[in-house]
Formats: sequence, structure tokens, C-alpha cells
Amino acid sequence: MTDFEGLVAVVTGGASGIGLATARLLASRGARVACLDLNPQVDEPLRGIRADVSDDDSVRAAIDAVVAEFGRLDVVVNNAGIGAQGDVAANPDDEWRRVWDVNVGGIVRVTRAALPHLRRSPAAAVVNTGSIAAWAGLPQRALYSATKGAVHALTLAMAADHVREGIRVNAVAPGTADTPWVGRLLDSAPDPDAERAALEARQPHGRLVSADEVAGAIAYLASPLSGSTAGTVLAVDGGMHGLRLRPK
Ligand code: NAD
Repeated sequence: MTDFEGLVAVVTGGASGIGLATARLLASRGARVACLDLNPQVDEPLRGIRADVSDDDSVRAAIDAVVAEFGRLDVVVNNAGIGAQGDVAANPDDEWRRVWDVNVGGIVRVTRAALPHLRRSPAAAVVNTGSIAAWAGLPQRALYSATKGAVHALTLAMAADHVREGIRVNAVAPGTADTPWVGRLLDSAPDPDAERAALEARQPHGRLVSADEVAGAIAYLASPLSGSTAGTVLAVDGGMHGLRLRPK
């Protein structure tokens, strides 16, 4: 694994789950890391900054604060996301807009605010968190899946727009990952332990993906080790997508 010594990274949704694991990994490799999250509570050496990625003023203020404090910005991990359950009839328009605004609009706003700073970095990278939901045809996840399909398409378009100016854009597509988000879903089931066991059995490798495994993929795509990689979506899913398996 390369090191991020001297570099500054922003991780959205960095106070929990995949984002927190990523922030910790980048910091352990020498980056100074700001976690932009609705919840600004993170442990040292991470720097928590309260930000709502669905609000442009909030995002701009947070990116300005990062650059004022650290003097530069090299890596952006667009990871903040929220879920939506049900078929297309399940979510009223305001809910559709909210999920779109966070999962897709958040990437647009944060990247837009970061671009002038990334253009000055010799090691600029953007990594977006997509999902295998974009490919898998998951039941009862219509809106969420659509936003993640948009994240994958946006990743490709952003890579095309910025690779010639030295900014690489890639994405990860996690399978079901063991994070507080999934913990909350399991806890809402009548028998959480049985639900977890069933969920694990449905994964190709018989267990949930760990947040650290997704963080490792994000760190790779954020690092010069992947210096010739742009516009890719890297699945971290135990083989679900690559093996053309179907979630049961
Ligand atoms: P999580 O709920 O544990 O963490 C998400 C973080 O995002 C939280 O700290 C939350 O406060 C923050 N957040 C939510 N809305 C925000 C907003 N408007 N502005 C700023 N921060 C906001 O979730 P997680 O499981 O770690 O998921 C992280 C990302 O990974 C999401 O984009 C999710 O869609 C994606 N993902 C997760 C899984 C999984 O199985 N856990 C699978 C595929 C993709």
C-alpha cells in the first residue's frame, strides 16, 4: 500500500461505516483527513466537519474550511449515502428528491467545490461509493438502485472530463457490507441473528463484506498505485457481480 504522506483527503459520510474505515486507513497512511458528515464526531487524528452534502452552502463552507486549515486538497471520497426501501410506488416525490439529492447531488456539489483545489494537486483522485445495487436488480430497492446506477455513470463521465487535467475519478461498488447501516436494517427484523445468518449465506463467500475491505479498495483507487486507472467501478462484493451471481 502506498502512503499518503503530505496529502489532504476529504471523506463524506466519514463518521460511520465505510467512510470511517476509509478515513482511518488514509490517516494511518499519512494523510490529513477531514470527515464531512451530518455527524462531526470523529476521533483524532481525524478532523470532523459538520456538512450536509445535499446543501451547497454547507458543502462550500466545509471545503473552504478544509483548505483554510490544511492548505490543500488532494483526495475526495464521495461516500455519503442514504437508502430507500420499496418499489417505485413506495416513495413520494419529496423522498425521491431527498435520496437523489444526497446520493447523486452530493457527489456533484462536493466535487464541484473541490475541483479548483484538485487541479493544483500532483496526486488528485476522486473515489465515489456506488453499489452492486446498480447492477443486481435488487427487489424493493428501486430508488436506491437508480441513484447508484447514476453514481456509476457519473463516475465515468467525470473521469472523461477530468483525466486530462490529472484528476482520476473511479468508484467502488460494495456488496452487502457490515456497517451500522446494515446493522440497523438487521436490528429491525423480528429475529436479527437469523436475518444476519441468512444474509451471510446469500453472499458468494458466505459472509458480509467488511468496511475495511471496501476502505482498502477506495484507498487503492485514491493512491498513485492506481495511477493509470480512471473511469472504473471496482466491485467489492465477494464475487457477486464478477461471477454473474444473482442475489437470492
Ligand atoms: P452508514 O449509515 O454507516 O454511514 C453513512 C454516513 O453518511 C453516516 O455517518 C451519515 O451521517 C452520513 N450522511 C448521511 N447523509 C448525509 C448527508 N446528507 N451529508 C453528509 N453526511 C451524510 O452507511 P455505510 O453502510 O457506511 O454506507 C456508506 C456508503 O456505502 C453509502 O453511499 C452506501 O450507499 C454505500 N453502500 C453501502 C453498502 C452496505 O451494505 N453497507 C453497500 C453498497 C453501498
